[in-house]
Amino acid sequence: MEKIVALCKRRGFIFQSSEIYGGLASTYDYGHYGVLLKGNVKAEWWRAVVQERDDVVALDAAILMHPRTWEASGHLDGFTDPLVQCLGKCKRRWREDHLREDLAARGLPADGELRCPECGGELSEPRNFNLMFETHMGPVQDEGSRVYLRPETAQGIFVNFKNVLQFSRKRPPFGIAQAGKSFRNEITPGNFIFRTREFEQMEVEFFVAPDDAGRWHEHWLEERTRWYTELGLRPDHLQLRAHGPDELSHYSSATSDIEYRFPMGWSELEGIANRGNFDLTQHARFSGEKLEYVDSGTGERYVPHVIEPSAGADRATLAFMVDAYDEEEVEGRQRVVLRLHPRLAPVKVAVLPLVNKEGQPETARELYQELRRRMPAEYDAGGSIGKRYRRQDEIGTPFGVTVDHQTMEDRTVTLRDRDSLTQERLPLEGLPDELARRLAAPWRSPKHNA
Ligand code: ATP
Repeated sequence: MEKIVALCKRRGFIFQSSEIYGGLASTYDYGHYGVLLKGNVKAEWWRAVVQERDDVVALDAAILMHPRTWEASGHLDGFTDPLVQCLGKCKRRWREDHLREDLAARGLPADGELRCPECGGELSEPRNFNLMFETHMGPVQDEGSRVYLRPETAQGIFVNFKNVLQFSRKRPPFGIAQAGKSFRNEITPGNFIFRTREFEQMEVEFFVAPDDAGRWHEHWLEERTRWYTELGLRPDHLQLRAHGPDELSHYSSATSDIEYRFPMGWSELEGIANRGNFDLTQHARFSGEKLEYVDSGTGERYVPHVIEPSAGADRATLAFMVDAYDEEEVEGRQRVVLRLHPRLAPVKVAVLPLVNKEGQPETARELYQELRRRMPAEYDAGGSIGKRYRRQDEIGTPFGVTVDHQTMEDRTVTLRDRDSLTQERLPLEGLPDELARRLAAPWRSPKHNA
């Protein structure tokens, strides 16, 4: 993980927020390549859940919602984590459930008395700590002006169920997708962008007839696992884990997590829950609106059940980076390379003049200008060619095109492949089409079975 954090800082993917003030704990800012990479992760998610299906529509609800939302959803009472504090020397705070999970993962008895993992001190009794951030709307800070920063995007979907049903001309089975910021006052944020207090979620609420819920739960487990593997995550670094009865959230009748083997161990990447009809029923009760589906043909009416694949954009970005990170020795030199799926790579092609003379920069710039209309491209003329390749390897650029002496004679260029390091001679004319074709081809990480 330290290597990923260092690379992210060195190349400006992700860095500490408010750094000049000493940083704000577990809060991060995304720089140029980080914005492009996370943007690609989100774009691939939109493509898979909306563009390539005809049963899911998009939504973008406000972050601030009517406070009754959180009463109805159960978050005001139930969105808590069990907080324990060290009564010994270090006074650190922990999540009791995480401490027990860690013991179980190490094969140790997990239901007895816990001690502080830091200093061995005694721990306090667990106290339920609500994770919602509060703020006030308008100039008066009283009970009536209290609002919450949403702790999940899901509720914005449920409260819009009626609107969407009316305007989208969809009927169950159908889904609503939303991506955006969520906020949780986590007790123990950490592991870089794995767990932060401000993060982005990508969620689908998929509404189905009650009897179909089990089948659709299976469907989404398969679909979402396929998404991660198609985008390059090694299948032996992914696993499905069904929640035990004591782990299930207040709304859920079944949840399975897609877990990734992060550097700190197997951890949740995405949760896929069968929420039953809990949310729509609650919002109907609290709002007085009927939130149900009525079949205009048969007159059949029911409150749809919901399958929810809930992913984190930052957490997925971290998983893709961890999975892609590689080091190797090439001709006696260490090379750091991000073997990202070409569709996720922030920059697809770098155009490099071999030397800064003989008309090479002009030809290279012309090619670069043509390429960047089609795909994210970079022009780099600074430093030795080896150094420029290494810079591109570190940000995961799949292709490097070098304009050299021969280009000026026969209008061919070298195309360098990030992973195999092969260099091919190709005609300049038609190169954008050729690259677009290669970018669209199926891709498999060379780290598979490595
Ligand atoms: P945990 O039990 O680990 O706190 P959770 O089960 O409450 O997590 P969900 O509510 O299922 O998490 O959230 C869905 C997804 O949102 C997670 O799989 C993760 O990708 C992302 N996510 C949740 N909390 C955070 C966070 N604090 N930082 C980054 N991503 C998060």
